[in-house]
Amino acid sequence: MRAKNRLVSGLAVAAGLLTLSSAVAPALAAPPVPTPEARASAAFDAALKNRAALRLFLQAMPKGGDLHNHLSGTPYAEDFLAWADADGLCVTTDVQPALASGPCDAPGRKPARGLAKADPALYARALNSLSMLNYNPGADGAQASGHDQFFSTFGRFGAVTENNLPAMLAVVREYAAGDHVGYVETSVNPGAIYDLVNKVRGSAWDGDFDKAFAALEPGIPDLVAKVRAEMDAAEAESDRRLGCQTQKPRQGACAVALGYQAFAVRILPPQVVFAQLTAAFALADADPRFVGVNIVAPEDNPTSLADYRLHMRMLGYLHARYPKVKLSLHAGELTLGLVPPRDLSFHIREAVEVAGAARIGHGVDIAHEAEARDLLKRMARDKVAVEINLTSNDVILGVKGADHPLHLYRKAGVPVVLSTDDEGVSRIDLTNEYLRAATEQGLTYRDLKAIARDSLEYAFVPGKSLRGAAECAKPGKACEAFLGANPKAQLQWKLERDLEAFEATH
Ligand SMILES: [Zn+2]
Repeated sequence: MRAKNRLVSGLAVAAGLLTLSSAVAPALAAPPVPTPEARASAAFDAALKNRAALRLFLQAMPKGGDLHNHLSGTPYAEDFLAWADADGLCVTTDVQPALASGPCDAPGRKPARGLAKADPALYARALNSLSMLNYNPGADGAQASGHDQFFSTFGRFGAVTENNLPAMLAVVREYAAGDHVGYVETSVNPGAIYDLVNKVRGSAWDGDFDKAFAALEPGIPDLVAKVRAEMDAAEAESDRRLGCQTQKPRQGACAVALGYQAFAVRILPPQVVFAQLTAAFALADADPRFVGVNIVAPEDNPTSLADYRLHMRMLGYLHARYPKVKLSLHAGELTLGLVPPRDLSFHIREAVEVAGAARIGHGVDIAHEAEARDLLKRMARDKVAVEINLTSNDVILGVKGADHPLHLYRKAGVPVVLSTDDEGVSRIDLTNEYLRAATEQGLTYRDLKAIARDSLEYAFVPGKSLRGAAECAKPGKACEAFLGANPKAQLQWKLERDLEAFEATH
């Protein structure tokens, strides 16, 4: 305000003493000092012409949260092979090698221990087989599709994920810290979930939700207690691996906060899916570390398609029992040609309207939905955020560039966030997704900054948002108390300070 007054009085003096000659005009018209945001934005625009410069810029940019992350899809194949080495597991000698339990002197197996040196060719083949590394689709017709290669990796590294929860928790935080990500919402099913699920594995499914829930309900307290102990131990070991108790914790990884989503696997029989969902809801209700519920696995699988509506009704039923539990659901991870047109027309709508999803994972086939404009309006109105996974959508579905619905969502006012999905399988990181959003989708620095902020606004972190909080209109005791009581606002506060520091460097 004071600066403006000075300018006004300066003009009056100038007008009174002189005619506005060309000699004084430049001084009066001196451009305002650019804001730190404008300077960062200009640096971003300049870096757009040079991918390495853009990478450098975006890697350092604070990005808030990664809201669509699968814990077992996060480690790189090298991590899995190192853990297989430490655990005494084997690598099969197939064309597409997999990790397997011992004995490793059986035909078709070699020890993972020391494999990189003992058999470099097999080690290299295993890196390819456990990820999208060197994937070359259809060169000679011998390779699986990107979709099949991507999803089959999970079965190949499954033997090592079972016993390495602490290592996976450490790795997801290490990679997030490298990306300047402060919070990761990751899908993980602790082993104890399967104690409950196994009770119904062989049973018949008659479609009676009340009966199915009543059969599982007595096992819930035990499930919650076991999972609590399992996660306590895994988190403590993860902290130990990262050196969080020591003077020099590794690369800021210890400061990365995690939220867990337990999930159901949609390709399994209905009684198993129902039991997994029940366990996931019960955990999210009882243990604050479990911030939401998800449903995963290929959506185009014949069982996923046949049972889609049933799954949404199961979710809706359990949501009514546990109304405080938040849902982020994979929906619309489909594209024309992958499934018959009818399956493209209702998945996102049912996830929102029947299951009550607060966020949608992928949402790629939105333009094929019946009454898509109406659905977009509803998602914008209710602030149902969409987790956009650009690389994953390209690799699995072949959807990228102008075919991707990112802009359709943005234009409709639907909140979007950028996320990794399975960064180890895709061999990417969140910075790469920001880079893609800039170079392939034309997003500006201000767009990306808004997305970083939204990634915490729409996170399932407990507590109130900093956005619009009167207590923090100015710093002080009231704000400190508010931040202390609201973990979400605390993460947002930290992001704002980090963004200020980042922009001050440009
Ligand atoms: Zn996913």
